[in-house]
Amino acid sequence: MIYTFKGNFGTLLLTVDTDGKARGTYQKNGVLEGDWSENSFSGEWTNQGMEGLVRFTVSDGKLEGNWKKGKDVGAMKGRWKGDLLSKEDDSETTKVVEETTSVANTPAEHPLKAKIEELYDAEDYASVITLFSENETELSENEDIVHKYLFSMWFHGDLEEETFEKIRGFEDKFETNRWLKLKGFYYSRKKWYDSALEAFKDTSERHYLLTKKKFDDYYTLHEEEKYSEVVKYFESELRSSISSKTFKVAEIYCQALYMDSDTERKALEKIRTFRERYPEHQPFTKLNGRFANYIGGKDLNLELIEEGLACFKEIKDERNIAKTKELIGETKSKIKAQTQDEKAAARERAAAEKKAAREAEAARKRADKKAVAAAKLLQHRFKNSRGLRFCQFCGREQQWATETCEIRGAGHNFVLLKERYSGELTPTCNKCGQEYNWAGDTCE
Ligand SMILES: [Zn+2]
Ligand SMILES: [Zn+2]
Repeated sequence: MIYTFKGNFGTLLLTVDTDGKARGTYQKNGVLEGDWSENSFSGEWTNQGMEGLVRFTVSDGKLEGNWKKGKDVGAMKGRWKGDLLSKEDDSETTKVVEETTSVANTPAEHPLKAKIEELYDAEDYASVITLFSENETELSENEDIVHKYLFSMWFHGDLEEETFEKIRGFEDKFETNRWLKLKGFYYSRKKWYDSALEAFKDTSERHYLLTKKKFDDYYTLHEEEKYSEVVKYFESELRSSISSKTFKVAEIYCQALYMDSDTERKALEKIRTFRERYPEHQPFTKLNGRFANYIGGKDLNLELIEEGLACFKEIKDERNIAKTKELIGETKSKIKAQTQDEKAAARERAAAEKKAAREAEAARKRADKKAVAAAKLLQHRFKNSRGLRFCQFCGREQQWATETCEIRGAGHNFVLLKERYSGELTPTCNKCGQEYNWAGDTCE
């Protein structure tokens, strides 16, 4: 059984199991736990990090009781006073049976209708649907039968879209709002909690409070500044629940994104989307301006700050217009200073590059010289003496000389001297005395 109370403690939803265990929620974070017996509750409460004892009795629709802080037994001076708003069986089927008892109790004037009622009471929803479909022309004239048919479709499951389509058709046909609660179920299933809240407002206290809790839990996370949880909650539960009465939900989401430096850009993108969808809602425009200014100022992005300015102009927010103009001035001088720094850095870079190029050129020249010298070391140096042309360093005649002067490094100095035995003139080193064809690669 689920009891709903309203009183000086806020709204209390108390679920009592068949074994007498009771558990309840009240205010934003309040929780009750205890025992239920003979219309009296006795147990413990916890709320906002505090705890204590509470007991109350319900009689003639009135709740009266006492509470105290702390779990030690003692005088309970605090008072709880409230009214019983509703008492519902928490199994949905029973509830529907209750809802339609008036219909079920009226004698059916037609065997088909009686059959539908019988199947419905037996919770044989598939058969209700089949029977209705086979006799639709006749049965769809009776609003009460249609009512059972629609609920059968819903409880049957897997027919949500079809049920919703049928509801809309029958609403027009009978010009009634009778299936608003059923539409609330559909909206809840779709996570369109804003629409669900509206649908349950006058049709089901219990579902209204359950749906409201979806939003209250979110607001609590926001109040507790649990930003990443706010973001997660919104994206999984509330993203399809934004309309004129729940704009706050979207604002909180964007603010939470904005609080984390990793998601500032995402915050800006999201708020732009909301502003585009709801241009009349000024808080969106204002947040758009704030986010654009902040990121623009940080990244020295004048275009973003201009976006911010446009936002504030749109909502005629003079204070922020003035602030934004100041920010534009500051940012411009920062950009200028940054440009100057960049220019100086570029000049330094160019000078360094020039210097490196000069050094590379010099090194290249040195290497070339070395190569030339090395090549030179391998060259013959021919000279003429008495009709013979031979190399000063290796002694070979020009026509027999090898391509390079292999022993130039040895340091010989060949001149024409008379050969020891034949007396023929032969190139001979005047330093070591070796004839050219015997000279080795050292001159000793
Ligand atoms: Zn030579
Ligand atoms: Zn020699």
